[in-house]
Amino acid sequence: MADNQASASKFLKEVEEGPYYKTGSPPENKIADANTSGQRLILTGRVIDENGNPVVDAWLDFWQADGNGMYDNAGYRLRGHQYTSENGEFRVETVMPGRYGRRAPHIHVKVKAGSSRVFTTQLFFTNNKSNSSDPLFEPANEMKVTETPEGKQARFDIVIRME
Ligand code: FE
Repeated sequence: MADNQASASKFLKEVEEGPYYKTGSPPENKIADANTSGQRLILTGRVIDENGNPVVDAWLDFWQADGNGMYDNAGYRLRGHQYTSENGEFRVETVMPGRYGRRAPHIHVKVKAGSSRVFTTQLFFTNNKSNSSDPLFEPANEMKVTETPEGKQARFDIVIRME
């Protein structure tokens, strides 16, 4: 648990949007379905401000590749947005993304809270072999994956600067 707390005060760095963002994602936190390739992964975390206070109703828009490194560019599989709860929490039920090209596995997210601007970044996985050869890899944005009886889980908190 100490690792999760350590990450709670960490500022994620922005990472470029990349070519596969689509507007209009569904309001959905289960972004994988039974046919989606990849190992099941649950992501949880909070959006907090610089003082550590939870940010309620922050908009989070996730998109990612499936376990084979494929994006759904025709539809909205592995794409979904949600708003943080009264505790600033979010939860995404998804799969571990695969590699594509020179890219290490990563999950894209956009965040906007209140009057903040849109914060766009990519989340990576600790100790993934492809991180070091990915030109966009950002070590500040690593998530540790733990194995649980329900499958893989990762947790991260997003500290957002309110403007
Ligand atoms: Fe990508």
